[in-house]
Amino acid sequence: MAPKLQNLINGQWVDPTGGGDKPLLNPADGTTVLAQFIESSPADVDRAVAAAVAAFPAWRDMPVIRRCRILFHCKQLLEQRSGQIAECMVRENGKTLAEAEGEVRRGIEVVEFAAGMPSMAKGDFIENIATRVDGYIYREPLGVVAGACPFNFPAMIPMWMFPVAIACGNTFILKPSDKCPMTGALVAGIMHEGGVPDGVLSVVHGGGDVVQQLITHPQVEAISFVGSTPVAEIVWRSAAAAGKRVQALGGAKNYIVVMPDADIEETAAAVIGSTYGCAGERCMASSVLVPVAGGDEIVDRVIALAKSLQLGDGLVGDTGMGPVITAEHKRRVESYIQIGVDEGATLRLDGRRAQVEGLPHGFFVGPTVFDHVTPSMRIAQEEIFGPVLSVMRAASLDEAITFANATPFGNGNSIFTASGGAARKFRNEIECGMIGINAGVPAPMAFFSFGGHKRSIFGDLRVHGPDGIEFYTRKKAVIERWPDTGPTGSVWGK
Ligand code: NAD
Repeated sequence: MAPKLQNLINGQWVDPTGGGDKPLLNPADGTTVLAQFIESSPADVDRAVAAAVAAFPAWRDMPVIRRCRILFHCKQLLEQRSGQIAECMVRENGKTLAEAEGEVRRGIEVVEFAAGMPSMAKGDFIENIATRVDGYIYREPLGVVAGACPFNFPAMIPMWMFPVAIACGNTFILKPSDKCPMTGALVAGIMHEGGVPDGVLSVVHGGGDVVQQLITHPQVEAISFVGSTPVAEIVWRSAAAAGKRVQALGGAKNYIVVMPDADIEETAAAVIGSTYGCAGERCMASSVLVPVAGGDEIVDRVIALAKSLQLGDGLVGDTGMGPVITAEHKRRVESYIQIGVDEGATLRLDGRRAQVEGLPHGFFVGPTVFDHVTPSMRIAQEEIFGPVLSVMRAASLDEAITFANATPFGNGNSIFTASGGAARKFRNEIECGMIGINAGVPAPMAFFSFGGHKRSIFGDLRVHGPDGIEFYTRKKAVIERWPDTGPTGSVWGK
């Protein structure tokens, strides 16, 4: 019998009580039950919030340098146990071990960033704004904040949120993805073992109902959300209606523009990494390739490399691409391939009916390439979130930028070129939040902030980096006036 997945509330692992049990399957074999997933009940969520409320005053009042020492210790523990975290992630998510290890590293980098909070959360002071009057601004934490996460980066995305939130002095309730909840819970447990006090970081499992309860709970001050665009918009609207601070990052449709002067080998390798890495389940995945003026050479090279990708279990050494997350998601991706065929695009590589030896029930979709895709096709506009590449041929850089800007999303787009002028024009005219210049996955590091434009984000602030600190704190402005002499005869003199 697979273990029940537990909530972490007030430092204790406890069974959720909401029912709705479902087995969490290993997507590589489609049959191994990794854990039993149980929803949290409203009472469970209330208990987590109550513990976070109770923990807040002492955590807020702990000197920031001591909070950061705890984070340093957690960072060491996370590094020691990074292999365990990565393996857990491969089992529940399906990505390859190398991808999982890279993800853990990127998550730990946010802990490193947050551990520098004393110098980043400083306020501002100005003396003598008027006679004997000083003015200053400082930041304070919000209180209890919550975060809801998607399935595709089950360690890194929780770690985009809670290290910054707790370093700022908040207490945090994590709602991991219901499709991939084990890794986030494991990471939170390691943080607790590393010295994060009871109630400062809690985990409640569940789906949309739990997120909605957290949003509307009167003692939750803010919500960080990452997921698909329709849900991000719902979360943003619910939070606004509840008068809550919210950042909600949504989906994507990312374009890679390839100029005729680009290095073919480097570009093709980057397109493969960006399109098929994590089986295309990345909000930064390139899903449209736009060669400018020709493009046969780059498209042929990408197809050749895609054919050589080895599908398999991410824990097996030579696996180049793992399965997608669920049987339902596999059907969804395959239905998009059929949509592309029906729309009249040329299917040059078909990933349907992919077979992997020894894993007949795994949720695999092979690398897929459509050519001669046109801007109005759904496969050019909609997020597929699988290993499917659409090739749209453009006559000029202007046309390529017009194609990319026509999507409702604005997460990350890239250009490959040897021309600084072309790169500069692209950077200026492309409508998105993250730009790659000869880089296929332009994800900002922890000390910058991550987030897109248009329907890839709802709310004003991005995650981690300076925006993260802005999001998890509010400012107080103080005007201070004191007499500059003591009472007559006091030790002040005169
Ligand atoms: P999803 O939107 O299905 O789920 C995300 C979270 O929303 C989960 O925790 C889920 O339980 C919760 N949820 C579901 N219904 C809800 C509701 N009605 N109200 C509140 N919360 C609800 O996304 P997913 O399939 O897990 O993840 C893939 C999506 O996430 C893709 O669209 C991808 O582009 C996006 N994503 C975006 C970024 C980014 O930084 N912009 C990063 C990673 C993933």
